[in-house]
Amino acid sequence: MDLKELYRDVILDHNKRPRNFGKLEPSDAQADGHNPLCGDRLTVFLKMDGNRVEDIRFEGKGCAISTASASLMTEAIKGKDKSQIGGMFDKVHSLLTKQDAIADSSLGKLAALSGVREYPARVKCASLCWHTLNAALDKGGATVSTE
Ligand code: ZN
Repeated sequence: MDLKELYRDVILDHNKRPRNFGKLEPSDAQADGHNPLCGDRLTVFLKMDGNRVEDIRFEGKGCAISTASASLMTEAIKGKDKSQIGGMFDKVHSLLTKQDAIADSSLGKLAALSGVREYPARVKCASLCWHTLNAALDKGGATVSTE
């Protein structure tokens, strides 16, 4: 199995069985995200312990890439603090947008998102959950749009 097939399998698996899917009640912060280009909508719920994300869940409706990306993100950032999450977002963003960006081992399964850069129209599908997460971390309760 080559890397591309492996990445595709990770995306398909997380779309079919999204991790941490559903409401989080009670939650400390939440934000809604919308990607009008594709119609993806999602809500991210956070339970915080100071600067650290103690728990995260998401719900919404979107394409396979937006769902898989949100699922992968929730697994990756649970237990991390805001500065670690900021660092991860920067790495994911270059993975999605720079053809020559290489996933380092700290990204784990998020490396599968590098397959998305072959389809520039879908980059916003994959980054929606991260923008929504940032909105939840910043303010709690904001709505973000990728437009
Ligand atoms: Zn989409």
